[in-house]
Amino acid sequence: MERACQVGVAFHWGIRVTGFDARGAQAGGVYFPCRWLVGADGQNSTVGKWANLSSRPPRTARFGFSRHYAVVPWTDLVEVHWGPGCQIFLTPTGSDEICIALLSHDPQLRIDRALAHFPEVAERLKSSRPLTAELGGVTSLGRARSVVSGHVALVGDASFTVDGITGQGLSLAFQHAILLAEAFAREDLHSYEIAHGEISRAPWRMTRLLLLMDRSAWLRRKVLRLFAGNPALFSKVMSAHMAEAAQESLKATEVLGLGWQVLRA
Ligand SMILES: Cc1cc2nc3c(=O)[nH]c(=O)nc-3n(C[C@H](O)[C@H](O)[C@H](O)COP(=O)(O)OP(=O)(O)OC[C@H]3O[C@@H](n4cnc5c(N)ncnc54)[C@H](O)[C@@H]3O)c2cc1C
Repeated sequence: MERACQVGVAFHWGIRVTGFDARGAQAGGVYFPCRWLVGADGQNSTVGKWANLSSRPPRTARFGFSRHYAVVPWTDLVEVHWGPGCQIFLTPTGSDEICIALLSHDPQLRIDRALAHFPEVAERLKSSRPLTAELGGVTSLGRARSVVSGHVALVGDASFTVDGITGQGLSLAFQHAILLAEAFAREDLHSYEIAHGEISRAPWRMTRLLLLMDRSAWLRRKVLRLFAGNPALFSKVMSAHMAEAAQESLKATEVLGLGWQVLRA
């Protein structure tokens, strides 16, 4: 934020953008003329709808809930626990608190009830107390028809959303911002469109694989057994998942090889 202010960004907190046209945006009763308009307004982006870039209906939608608990973290790693039709994530967020997130297809399922599927986690939380309310949201896999139209560009969830299980939403949004800044410098939004497509491919594939594991207990068991027996392979797949450059992702032959190993596991 400090850096943004230093380079001349003006923040107008708590004001909604209520209208756009080809030359600017209307917010808080003031018209802001602009050369470029960036829609960073999340899933169901209004800028996207206005510029006719709207997402196609998401291919999958799940429900996520999160809550912070007062407990001394027992690990500095993020833990992902797979259960029937749901996953629980534990993220240490301080020296004496963790964040628990739940993802499932069931809009009625909440963390307390889901913990019945995760006795080890429930045991660790037994004497902890919740620090926050349980907040929920929809998480889905979907992308805008296009991320650029004239002088309008979309970034972050407005342009492409991955299911929360990938843990990549924020990382992708930051990558979009860097790529878009480079495109502005070149005065060529088309290059952003191309780069956006390239960095979206691997997360799209990985999300589909993870959602397949969510749906199939058979596949989930096979994949987890394979990775448990071959930590080096798990590290390689994780590195490919976190890679920022498209060329660092797994090649098609490697993906096929991985599929074969899963079947044999
Ligand atoms: C359950 C769940 C779990 C997740 N887990 C993870 C995770 O572990 N790791 C991870 O990296 N990501 C995770 N994500 C995804 C992550 O939250 C998003 O990818 C990220 O927040 C996208 O950022 P964004 O800025 O594009 O959109 P948003 O965070 O949605 O921000 C958009 C902003 O635009 C504002 N806005 C909208 N319309 C207007 C308007 N007209 N005028 C002014 N302001 C407006 C909104 O108020 C909002 O503040 C998860 C998401 C969910 C739902």
